Amino acid sequence: MSDSLYEQMSAALPELRLLAAEPLAKHTSFRIGGPAQLLACPGSEAELAAVLAWCRSAGIIPRILGGGTNILAPDGELPGVVISTRGLDAITQKEDGILSAGAGVPLARLAMFAQKRGLTGLEFAHGIPGTVGGGMYMNAGAYQGELSQVALCARFLTLGGEIQRLSGPELGLGYRRSAFMSMEGVILSADFRLSPGEPDAILARMRELMEKRRASQPLDLPSAGSTFKRPAMGYAAALIQEAGLKGFRVGDAAVSEKHSGFVVNLGRATGADVLALMEEVRKRVKEQSGVELEPEVRIW
Ligand SMILES: Cc1cc2nc3c(=O)[nH]c(=O)nc-3n(C[C@H](O)[C@H](O)[C@H](O)COP(=O)(O)OP(=O)(O)OC[C@H]3O[C@@H](n4cnc5c(N)ncnc54)[C@H](O)[C@@H]3O)c2cc1C
Repeated sequence: MSDSLYEQMSAALPELRLLAAEPLAKHTSFRIGGPAQLLACPGSEAELAAVLAWCRSAGIIPRILGGGTNILAPDGELPGVVISTRGLDAITQKEDGILSAGAGVPLARLAMFAQKRGLTGLEFAHGIPGTVGGGMYMNAGAYQGELSQVALCARFLTLGGEIQRLSGPELGLGYRRSAFMSMEGVILSADFRLSPGEPDAILARMRELMEKRRASQPLDLPSAGSTFKRPAMGYAAALIQEAGLKGFRVGDAAVSEKHSGFVVNLGRATGADVLALMEEVRKRVKEQSGVELEPEVRIW
């Protein structure tokens, strides 16, 4: 089945970079995940549109992979097609203060692009390890900033092949949520409105936030960042710590000693380990504080 799907797709799209049985562990910051039946890596929007059209004709709903920094992939084979957006990597400066970035652009690169042009507003995003597409999907944020504060609009390619332009409230950006979570297709690009700023001051702010991150987060171990969303009452990390779960392990998956909001992979953690750990954490936090933790990480 795997071979024949590979053959069909590569025959239809001979120029496409297409990988069969590609380990998702190589593409996720958790370093977890079995083989994707097919990983398609289009190099342009046109090629991505052709991949979507092929998926539609084959009756396949593909999964979209940005930086893989907020995904927990399964241990076994993931059937079907995963599409990497990394090839959509252009940044352009439009009218004053507006930057347009392809979905696959790393947020760190976009923030540095803005800094060099004296544009402020994306300092908070510099240390978030994902892409523009994943950031818009999640409404990524940190240190009182989130993409909703600077995002103007996004272009979205539906599974049906139509390009939609969503702006303002249509983006549905709220705390770690967006309208894209209930849509099927791919974010192609997003525009951000920034303000004039002093490049040195912007750089200093980015460095300051990076230092805070290094001091408080286990950046030396594979993870997907905060595992749970911030609940209405309190902070996930504090609740997890109060439940006595700092360092708690299932296999090689552990609640980080440095930041209890992070689940880290100590070496050979499986997706099943992480899921079992998350379940136990939710159960014990609920018992201890009555709060229901909701996963932030996207479980595939
Ligand atoms: C060490 C570390 C620190 C982190 N710190 C933060 C932080 O401070 N703040 C924060 O908000 N997050 C943080 N994260 C989590 C993560 O970086 C963000 O959620 C980020 O926005 C995910 O982007 P990504 O490109 O990696 O998306 P992925 O992980 O690849 O995907 C996440 C979701 O978005 C979907 N998606 C991705 N691209 C597209 C697209 N183009 N079109 C449609 N759907 C798409 C995927 O299908 C998936 O459902 C951290 C993660 C790590 C590992």
